[in-house]
Amino acid sequence: MARRDFYNILGVERTATTDEIKRAYRALARRWHPDHNKAADAEVRFKDITEAYRTLNDVDRRARYDRMGPLYTEDGRPPRPEDVQKAVGAMFGNLFRRKGKERGEDLRYTVSLTLEEVATGAEKEVIVPRMVRCGTCQGDGAEPTNGRQTCTVCSGSGKATGPRLFRSECYHCQGRGFSITIPCHSCKGQGRNHLDDTLKVKIPTGVATGQKLKLSGKGNAPRGQGKPGDLLVIINVTDHDLFRRRGEDLQMNLPLTYDEMVLGAEVTVPTLEGTTTIRIPQGSAPGKVLRLAGRGLPRVGRKQRGDLHLQIVLDMPKDLTQPQQRALRSWSKHLPASAHPRRAEFDQALQDRK
Ligand SMILES: [Zn+2]
Ligand SMILES: [Zn+2]
Repeated sequence: MARRDFYNILGVERTATTDEIKRAYRALARRWHPDHNKAADAEVRFKDITEAYRTLNDVDRRARYDRMGPLYTEDGRPPRPEDVQKAVGAMFGNLFRRKGKERGEDLRYTVSLTLEEVATGAEKEVIVPRMVRCGTCQGDGAEPTNGRQTCTVCSGSGKATGPRLFRSECYHCQGRGFSITIPCHSCKGQGRNHLDDTLKVKIPTGVATGQKLKLSGKGNAPRGQGKPGDLLVIINVTDHDLFRRRGEDLQMNLPLTYDEMVLGAEVTVPTLEGTTTIRIPQGSAPGKVLRLAGRGLPRVGRKQRGDLHLQIVLDMPKDLTQPQQRALRSWSKHLPASAHPRRAEFDQALQDRK
């Protein structure tokens, strides 16, 4: 399958004589021979040039090529159906492709946030290493003064003039319309430069780990004139010392003493914003969950907030002295059985089994 226009590869008109074709081939073959041209694409180009010449230099092959276009095969066999399909697909590709302008690469950057920042939203300043269009050559890769020469094959249009089924950009200038004679000193001909770019990222409230924010056009600039890629900011919410996150709700263990649970108490508890004082009702058993409405996290981009769940855990007294232990025992002994109804029921059941 000939996806390239052989005339365009040799840089000759479709009406070129055999002599013109020979001359064009010799000049190009000298220039691109991989023995002395060390460019990365020299070998591929040399092969393209040779293939184009082999076809156009032979009267029969050239006639067949002129008739078949991209469906031309060197051995003269009719093209296979899948080749026809590929060629038609490529034609549509040519029609819809943005003319030879590639887009820059997308980049990813992870931003770490605290739960407090998730609650309020944040504006983060980040330094993202990215490629930006070279200001000296404006992305062309050619030195601004006398660095470029209009492509003689396409006369600067960047287009190959062959039938539509071929690739549409000019083979010699790769669609740019010019060739670089002196590479830009600032970007070494790359058309783009490295920059540690300082960016401000606005992070909405309520985001969660793994969520992505897209900053359009803040990825890499491409080589040449295409559009830059996007920057994907990936959210990472760090673990909190006190709070665990369950969607929009927050959870926390609230250690209380025995007497606080028995008698009830006013205790000060932490919230994302600071502290607040709450009432512990009398007889609050371990495991009970107290719900502080609206003290959780907001939904993404909204004001409405989830709840803060405080789960009561008993902070068992430790390291009691002998007198303290004695006091606790004597206090317990003086309580009537009705003070511990479940224990009384249990003791009764035990009694019944004897
Ligand atoms: Zn440059
Ligand atoms: Zn050209």
